[in-house]
Amino acid sequence: MGRVALVTGGSRGIGAAISKALKAEGYEVAATYAGNDEKAKAFTDETGIKTYKWNVADYESSKEGLAQVEADLGPIEVVVANAGITRDAPFHKMTPQQWQEVIDTNLTGVFNTVHPLWPGMRERGFGRIIVISSINGQKGQFAQVNYAATKAGDLGIVKSLAQEGAGKGITANAICPGYIATEMVMAVPEKVREAIIGQIPAGRLGEPEEIARCVTFLASDDSQFINGSTISANGAQFFV
Ligand code: NDP
Repeated sequence: MGRVALVTGGSRGIGAAISKALKAEGYEVAATYAGNDEKAKAFTDETGIKTYKWNVADYESSKEGLAQVEADLGPIEVVVANAGITRDAPFHKMTPQQWQEVIDTNLTGVFNTVHPLWPGMRERGFGRIIVISSINGQKGQFAQVNYAATKAGDLGIVKSLAQEGAGKGITANAICPGYIATEMVMAVPEKVREAIIGQIPAGRLGEPEEIARCVTFLASDDSQFINGSTISANGAQFFV
């Protein structure tokens, strides 16, 4: 049996590509989702990957859900914190609720996902933590003060976890995707999408599978010395 890998938000979009790529590499994969039962069922029917529903923003639900996955599949050795949302608004119109929902899901959600697994990883002397951040956490983005704050926060989380975990065989790294051809991006008006693509030197959107391949590398034994790092996968989009 392969190692057990958990992918939050693993039932659609980038997360689904990650779940499938890990399964193809021989991992026992569990994919979580928030509430879209229809998509989750279709994903399980298509891939045979088991899905679990809980809200990553809630610590107790995360703890219970993770315990259930471990009871079903065994200790989780690879965790991909991918679940994320946007609640965009220019700052002068951003509501405290829009701020808080994004912080709770994207930032506290990473804590809630990794924290319950940390003691087991330390005891076993092995762990792979991979957080899906964003180019917008590196460069900021108009109307995304909330989202950019969480994605920049992810980079601080992995750098700190790396220092705490390195001596215990645990690595923690982030991936910063640029614009990827998921439902979210394909739903923006074509003209806006064309303008976005115009800013990408590669001249195209990224594919979810291109992010998934970064994950399978970071999950592998070969990446042991890569710790606290960020892989930017953005088609050379300028962000400094
Ligand atoms: P999608 O919107 O396609 O999918 C999001 C997934 O996360 C779904 O499975 C969803 O479940 C789940 N989810 C959302 N909120 C919660 C929650 N509170 N608890 C548990 N699960 C939750 O997202 P993408 O594939 O586009 O993005 C995936 C990650 O990549 C995100 O972190 C995003 O910020 C990041 N990213 C995306 C980019 C892009 O271009 N798409 C670019 C850079 C970064 P359900 O199906 O039930 O709603």
